[in-house]
Amino acid sequence: MNRRNFLKTFCKGAAAATLAGFYTNPLFAADNKNQKSKPPNIVVIFADDLGYGDLGCFGHPTISTPNLDRMAAEGMKFSQFYSAAPVCTPSRAALLTGRLPIRNGMCSDRRRVLFPNSAGGLPETEVTIASALKTAGYATCCIGKWHLGHLPKFLPTRRGFDHYFGIPYSNDMKPTPLMSNEETIEEPADQTTLTRRYTEQALKFIQKNKYKHFFLYFPHTFPHVPLFASDSFKNKSLRGLFGDVVEELDWSVGKILHTLRQNNLAENTLVFFTSDNGPWLIMNLNGGSAGLLRGGKGSTWEGGMREPCIAWWPGKIKPNTTNPALASTMDIFATCLEIAGVPVPKDRIIDGVNLLPALLGTGPDPRNIMFFYRGTRLMAVRKGPWKAHFITQAGYREKPKEHDPPLLFNLEYDPSEKFNVADKNSKVIDDIRRTVERHKKNLKTPKSQLELLIKDD
Ligand code: MG
Repeated sequence: MNRRNFLKTFCKGAAAATLAGFYTNPLFAADNKNQKSKPPNIVVIFADDLGYGDLGCFGHPTISTPNLDRMAAEGMKFSQFYSAAPVCTPSRAALLTGRLPIRNGMCSDRRRVLFPNSAGGLPETEVTIASALKTAGYATCCIGKWHLGHLPKFLPTRRGFDHYFGIPYSNDMKPTPLMSNEETIEEPADQTTLTRRYTEQALKFIQKNKYKHFFLYFPHTFPHVPLFASDSFKNKSLRGLFGDVVEELDWSVGKILHTLRQNNLAENTLVFFTSDNGPWLIMNLNGGSAGLLRGGKGSTWEGGMREPCIAWWPGKIKPNTTNPALASTMDIFATCLEIAGVPVPKDRIIDGVNLLPALLGTGPDPRNIMFFYRGTRLMAVRKGPWKAHFITQAGYREKPKEHDPPLLFNLEYDPSEKFNVADKNSKVIDDIRRTVERHKKNLKTPKSQLELLIKDD
């Protein structure tokens, strides 16, 4: 979308509202250099296939994550935080647009993610966090795994990011190019030094923009399989190579937070750390752990979509808090726009809600409902403590199993989804069915971008 069309999608007077917000928003810090108020910086660090149980601060007994543990001790841990999909591409599309992937064609039942022979990508009509924040003058950068289309017209540099450095899809897909903006600089990428090089680029971006306001989207390539760690982390963790890789990610987070502190940016920067989907369990010892949750990557059981999430903003978020409120990666979109003083687009359905009241401890829980899609199928719905599974499908090769009445679990009592209590709670099921009907009334499903192949183009 060009700038003119982008601005048209916003309600009239949006620019004025943004400017007004710029000077009145109490979240904006005074910039010592020029005494003008400055919107907060935003950093989103997104691991790939990291499970709910893979961090020290989320209960892993042998993976050492002192930097993430400190981030949690200084910030807020969300204990019921969900990605919008159990696999990479739709999950990333949802994070950046605040919308369920079913609304923008970024899901499919035939091809679950984009591949090197895919001709599709995130449609130009979508508003990303980066393209929205550009309207408020943010410097924007994407470092890492993109996976929203690798053809030039879909690259991060065409979706609101000033700069891009990374591999445009998963690290098990060939030829695994390492790109700088729109150019391939190494092929195949040397993955042993990837986390270190990503981190160097991120630090450089922060240093370069320390007097401006910036948005850094940092989707790591790991711990997606194949696993690689640099020499200084190899054979160090008690948890083997998977642990080495996660410990290097932890080091990277430490470097980012240290650089923010060192440059006096910590109190004006909101940092999120989370993951795109649950652990890749079929990789056995090379896959992660969903902790006490059932299932993993690819499934709509809790282990596939409930993620570890930490939010950090010294001086704003109360330290050492655990928030059990329902929240989602989709909510990061509305939250970023709110703190930047940018209006949320009014011409489309946004599924994300503003997390700011939950982060600052000033308001009620942000959401009560989560929809669990696998491709285009609505498999399960969570409402309050209750989760109803209408369809379940554990592995990639297993056939989907329909349930009528749906399986019903109380996730506050039973986070492991062991005890089906549908028999005793027919009113809860009726209420969830009505929620599904309302949801489906507002659903338009565009052509899938994941089914377009390069040879068809
Ligand atoms: Mg993933």
